[in-house]
Amino acid sequence: DIAYVNGRFGPLADAVVSIEDRGFQFGDGVYEVIRTYRGQPFAIEEHLARLERSAQALQLLIGQTRDQWSCLIREGLRLSQFPETKIYLQITRGQAPRDHPFPVSSAPTTVLTFREFHPLDVSVRNAGVQAMSFEDIRWGRCDIKSVNLLANVLARQRAKEAGVFEAILVREGMVTEGSVSNVMVVRNGVVQTAPEGHRILSGVTRAFVLELARKEGIPVTESFVTREELLAASEVFLTGTTVEVLPVVRVDGYAIGSGSPGSVSRLLSRRFEALVG
Ligand code: PMP
Repeated sequence: DIAYVNGRFGPLADAVVSIEDRGFQFGDGVYEVIRTYRGQPFAIEEHLARLERSAQALQLLIGQTRDQWSCLIREGLRLSQFPETKIYLQITRGQAPRDHPFPVSSAPTTVLTFREFHPLDVSVRNAGVQAMSFEDIRWGRCDIKSVNLLANVLARQRAKEAGVFEAILVREGMVTEGSVSNVMVVRNGVVQTAPEGHRILSGVTRAFVLELARKEGIPVTESFVTREELLAASEVFLTGTTVEVLPVVRVDGYAIGSGSPGSVSRLLSRRFEALVG
C-alpha cells in the first residue's frame, strides 16, 4: 500500500503525521474516497469539486489545484499497481498547539492513500443486503464530508453487531441516508430519495443514479420518506462509491417488497455497471 503525506510518496506503513495535527485533535479536516474501474479513477472531477466545497465550508485552504490532485492520483496509482484501487484523500488544518480557534499560521496536512479495492461479492449484490434503522445523531452540516465520523462509526458498528450491512439513519422520523451511503426507495414506481441540503451528503453516485433513472423515464422525487414509508416501499437500495447500487431486501427484520431485489433496483444497477464499465 502506498501513501502520500505532504509532498512525499512512500509505503503506507511508514506514513505518519504529528499528534498535534488538528485532524487528530479535533477532526478538523475533510476527505474523499474515489475508486477505480479498470484502473481509471471514476468521477474524479465530481469528487474534487465536492472536496473543494467541503473545504470551503470549513474555511480550509486546499494547496492543490484539480490538475495537481489528478497528477498525485496518477502517480499513486502508478506506484501502487493494484487491479482496482481505493483512493483516499484527506486534508486537515495542519499541525498546531491544541487550541480551538484556527491557528494563525499552519500549513494544511495533505494525505492520500492507495489501497487495493475489493468489490462486494456478486452473490451478496444479487441477493441484496439487510439494513437497520438507527437514530441520526449527526451534526447540522452532513453535506460537508468532514473526518468527524463518530456518529457514522457508532451507527455502522451497531449494524455490524446486528449482523446487517448498513444503518439507515432517521432524524425526527425522516430517513436521511445510510452511515456510508445514500438511501433510495421505490414507491408507486417513483424513485424517492432525501433532498440535497444540510441533512445528507450529496453523493456522487446518487447524482449519477438519479440521472440514469430520469433517462429510463422513471419518475424521481427528491423528498424525505418516513421510516414507515421506507418499510412499506416496494424497493429500497443504497448508492455510494463502494456499494454502487445495492438492493436492500430487509429493514429492521421486515421484508421490503417481495424480499428480493426489485426490478427498478436491478435495472439501475445494470445501467450503473454499464456507465462505469
Ligand atoms: N453518505 C455518506 C454518509 C457517505 O459516507 C457516503 C460515501 N462517501 C455517501 C453518502 C455516498 O457518497 P458517494 O456516492 O459520493 O460515495
